[in-house]
Amino acid sequence: MAAKQEETNAKTHEHDFRYYACVNLWDNGEVTGVIDVWRCTACHVKGIELRAQGLSNLATETGFPVLDAPDSNWVVFVCGAQEQLRYEVLCVHVGDIIEHECVEKTSPIKVSSSYKLEDTKDKFHKIQSIEPYLNETMDLSL
Ligand SMILES: [Zn+2]
Ligand SMILES: [Zn+2]
Repeated sequence: MAAKQEETNAKTHEHDFRYYACVNLWDNGEVTGVIDVWRCTACHVKGIELRAQGLSNLATETGFPVLDAPDSNWVVFVCGAQEQLRYEVLCVHVGDIIEHECVEKTSPIKVSSSYKLEDTKDKFHKIQSIEPYLNETMDLSL
């Protein structure tokens, strides 16, 4: 496990996560989920925990499996192809292609340099960075 070894060496401290902010996800007049954002006090990497109806993970107890980095960003990816909006919270890099199975997908779901959906003609999907919405409400509607 060479990669694992390198990872351990690169980490110079044990992350010290503190609750940082929340983002309320708003869909059609009601809060459909809340993203809790935790940040390391030393290096400022961020991990998130999504609280949604019937779904709550235990990230804060088990640690955060995914952390952002200077060249990545937490975003909400929204699909409006079905009557009920679908969304995911993802840590992405500029240029990433988000894997998504969908009848309304006409082009790759690619992350632009401003962490938006690159194809602005795609009216069924959007990508929204969580950064401007810390301690605010993000409207998921398209
Ligand atoms: Zn840290
Ligand atoms: Zn879709």
